Amino acid sequence: MAQRSVTTTVSQVVAPPGARLGGRLITSLVASAVLQPINATLISVALVPIGQSLGACAAEIAWLVTALYLASAVGQPVVGLFVDLPSTDRPSQDTPVRMSTGRWRREVSPDDRTIHCGVVLLTVHAYAAPSATEPLAKTTITRRDVGPHDVLIKIEYAGICHSDIHTVRSEWGEAHYPLAPGHEIAGVVVETGSAVTKHRVGDRVGVGCMVDSCGKCVSCRNGEEQYCLEGMVATYDGIDRDGTVTQGGYSTHVVVAEDFVLKIPDGLDLAVAAPLLCAGITTYTPLRRHGAGPGKRVAVVGLGGLGHMAVQIAHAMGAEVTVLSQSLKKREDGLRLGADHYYATSDESTFETLAGSFDLVLNTVSAVLDIDRYLSLLAVGGTLAFVGAPAESLGFGVFPLLTNRRSLSGSMIGGIGQTQEMLDFCAEHGLGAEIEIISADRINEAYERVLASDVRYRFVIDTSTLD
Ligand SMILES: [Zn+2]
Ligand SMILES: [Zn+2]
Repeated sequence: MAQRSVTTTVSQVVAPPGARLGGRLITSLVASAVLQPINATLISVALVPIGQSLGACAAEIAWLVTALYLASAVGQPVVGLFVDLPSTDRPSQDTPVRMSTGRWRREVSPDDRTIHCGVVLLTVHAYAAPSATEPLAKTTITRRDVGPHDVLIKIEYAGICHSDIHTVRSEWGEAHYPLAPGHEIAGVVVETGSAVTKHRVGDRVGVGCMVDSCGKCVSCRNGEEQYCLEGMVATYDGIDRDGTVTQGGYSTHVVVAEDFVLKIPDGLDLAVAAPLLCAGITTYTPLRRHGAGPGKRVAVVGLGGLGHMAVQIAHAMGAEVTVLSQSLKKREDGLRLGADHYYATSDESTFETLAGSFDLVLNTVSAVLDIDRYLSLLAVGGTLAFVGAPAESLGFGVFPLLTNRRSLSGSMIGGIGQTQEMLDFCAEHGLGAEIEIISADRINEAYERVLASDVRYRFVIDTSTLD
């Protein structure tokens, strides 16, 4: 059902220092707000107990919510006062409160004139970069209210992807700050919107690199939402449909449209599953597309976060897998993860030995690559596919392509349907990322170690350490 969102920005908020929740506070807030020069005919107090019912305070604010609903129905401007409660406490008269500005949103359905009055923005703990040059720091961010098609997820683990570092440092264009990155999210559903059908409270779920798309264009209809012609909405530093900047998974909670929420199968540990939402799907999609399977010879360039997933997945698909790494340092890991062969690219003889050997060479590194040399490794009809993205433009000769009908290809993550397929595949074959779990206060240190390639193979943040 088509819906129109009406958003009112709250311009003034009054929070008595040390305020405690209760009838007197609400009365004083209303009185203060009335005295503000705000063009509004109604004041409302909205309580935000994350994942909780309004509980003990319901009676005290019931009249305000009712009045708000009625005012919305007749199209009156509305001012919302948002009271931010500690996340897990059941609210009581003595619950400390904190005030924050926010938006009140009404969703009006033109068909039945039903007005869905959402209760507010959620303020949640997060780790965010204040600017391109400062380290990430503990903070709070707001999440939109849970709309009819939204799911509220309590995040348990968030993977650290190299893209997070590029983005928060504005290396891929000027980012929006403060910015909480993270697009490898695993957690549990704690609330569902009224129209949600795919997920239930208590479900183990994941969110990857995108949280929305137009849903109508040819890419979306083909299940390739990542190539949406209107642009997918990235999980962080993206512009959401309501114009706000999206915030990622280095956070305790996230609100996501149900269509962009994946189910994490029972057999997959949440921490191990988190990196699959980016590293897993990024490598799974080109391996599927280029037919990795029995009788196919696949080379994986680089054994890092992406590469170590590519090796496991290609092996599970039945392909003969070769790792091409700079050195033989990680050889034992590579063979343990499922590689049949392991070669060092620093050894000049490797390219002669392996000339014409592969149906697919999957490049997972973002360093500059001599394309012609890697094309020479392909058999007739073979493909050199890029998932690693060097910032520089790479040159190549056409002859190595046409003399053997070779292809150059690129691939970016995968559609929602294929992401679910990948998670199910990993659960079925017992695959997962090799991880090092860290507390939130070690994120900056982890970034330095990612940049120094000193991680085997993915850092995962335990988000319970964000509170
Ligand atoms: Zn990523
Ligand atoms: Zn689209």
